[in-house]
Amino acid sequence: MPQLIAANWKMNGRLDWVDKVGELAALTGEAVCERLICPPHPLVGAMARAAQGSGIAIGAQDCSEHEAGAHTGETEAALLAALGARYVILGHSERRTGGETDDRVKAKAERAVGSGLRPLVCVGESLAEREAGTAIPVVEAQLSGSLPQQGDYDIAYEPVWAIGTGRTATARDVAEMHAAIRRHVGVGPRILYGGSVKPDNAALLLGVPEVGGALVGGASLEMESFAQIVHAAKAD
Ligand code: PEP
Repeated sequence: MPQLIAANWKMNGRLDWVDKVGELAALTGEAVCERLICPPHPLVGAMARAAQGSGIAIGAQDCSEHEAGAHTGETEAALLAALGARYVILGHSERRTGGETDDRVKAKAERAVGSGLRPLVCVGESLAEREAGTAIPVVEAQLSGSLPQQGDYDIAYEPVWAIGTGRTATARDVAEMHAAIRRHVGVGPRILYGGSVKPDNAALLLGVPEVGGALVGGASLEMESFAQIVHAAKAD
């Protein structure tokens, strides 16, 4: 599968950010990878319409584990799919820190798969866990608890200490973790790296064996920098 270069806009965006789809399309027309933008929920429908015919996929940053019903403030996976979303980020560390458990991530992933969305399930260790030498078992436990039983999905390995901090894991650490994740899950899912991916380190990180793409936060808010990361992706 081609590498997946995914933008996580987090809680950033205004109505006119819909235009960024056209900007990205113009900057990356010849992309060898798959491009994905995950805006805040209220922009998903308009962005999916704007992305039609561009080859750029639109995704969400979360979904409910429930079917439609009395769940105030939640967003149903089937509604996101109907709006044109193709992917959904699940289990991001910013949500796990807020109390999201592996069980809940798994239930959401299964609901997403059943609704026609492809989950991008995030895992990653804290700095304390890395320093204690437990990064791999911690991530393996998250994988065992969070992945859907069936259906297609991708994984994003995001060391918590590298998200939004400007610190990245070394290529050696990324290679070791991605190999461990591949052993755990077998063939199939892409394993993205996330954590302070920028234009100047993207080629190195995207060249590490078993890295199937990048999940990008801060550097995805400006299309010029996100496009440079897209251009650093490898062909199949
Ligand atoms: C993220 O939010 O998933 C992320 C990797 O953010 P950043 O690129 O800003 O570290």
